[in-house]
Amino acid sequence: MTDVGTLKVGVVGLGTMGAPMARHLIAAGHQVTVWNRTRAKEEPLAALGAARAGSPAEAADGMDAVLTCVSDDPDLRAVVLGDQGVGQTLPSGAVLVDCSTASPSLARDLAWELAEGGRMFVDAPVSGGSEGAEKGTLTVFVGGSEDSVARAMPVLRTFGARITHLGEAGSGQAAKAVNQVVLAGAYAGVAEGIVLAERFGLPFERLLPALSAGAADSWVLRQRADNMVRGAYPLGFRTSLHLKDVRIALREAAAMDLPLEVAALVAGIEEKLVEAGFGDEDVSNLARHPRAEDA
Ligand code: NAP
Repeated sequence: MTDVGTLKVGVVGLGTMGAPMARHLIAAGHQVTVWNRTRAKEEPLAALGAARAGSPAEAADGMDAVLTCVSDDPDLRAVVLGDQGVGQTLPSGAVLVDCSTASPSLARDLAWELAEGGRMFVDAPVSGGSEGAEKGTLTVFVGGSEDSVARAMPVLRTFGARITHLGEAGSGQAAKAVNQVVLAGAYAGVAEGIVLAERFGLPFERLLPALSAGAADSWVLRQRADNMVRGAYPLGFRTSLHLKDVRIALREAAAMDLPLEVAALVAGIEEKLVEAGFGDEDVSNLARHPRAEDA
């Protein structure tokens, strides 16, 4: 640790979520070192005072904490356990805080791998979208030992408004899987409602505030119905990533003989959207389905 309260933090993965997280860490006064696979994305962070590392291993060397925020299980495995991965250099006593959405089983594996050498691991997937990351108001689902979570807290507090410790490593990812199943139904329901309203010819500028004032209110309705009305789906959250998350939930549920029929239906629609070339659009593009634009 450097000064009291000031940490040396490596950040690996500067996408829609990782870049604003790194900005919050810098704004909180921590000494931040960044690495991103597409190196140009490091430049705006360097302009704010971050150092640039040549690899994830270099971004972890000598750090108090490392934050990872990459897309999927194989990517997380690569940046942590690869030849140039965080695990090669993360010092004893330091904590890896993973904010990617990944499998609970991978979180448990990483905790186990890093425990050798006295390193700590916390799975800390987030919810709240790109807006929450920008504003520093994310919900964070946390898994890990009490000691690891205490060590991760100064990092998480820079961008998390609600930080909930749910149990041992993997519990954060399990909670995030639940979150994504809830969201799957919410996006699909709002999408169908919007297209139905369109067919009725209802005035959206009056309908949407009325829906939001009643029992149909939701984050998706308030934040994403406008996209669906306009038929424009800027990020946001990629459909391909939500599909990845729902598949994690479906795999976990299948292993417990639990059928998740609604989530499976939404995953099927999202597969069609991805196949039709819409995987990089925001999940609100589920409205394309009732309009038969993914056929
Ligand atoms: P994104 O904008 O697509 O960024 C993905 C990041 O991961 C990029 O920095 C990318 O590097 C990096 N990456 C991917 N594969 C890699 C690999 N094999 N090796 C090294 N780096 C790799 O995604 P995002 O929206 O920030 O999402 C990141 C994570 O947060 C995902 O797990 C997602 O499910 C989760 N999440 C996202 C949201 C949201 O609203 N966006 C909300 C909650 C949770 P490049 O720049 O080189 O591609």
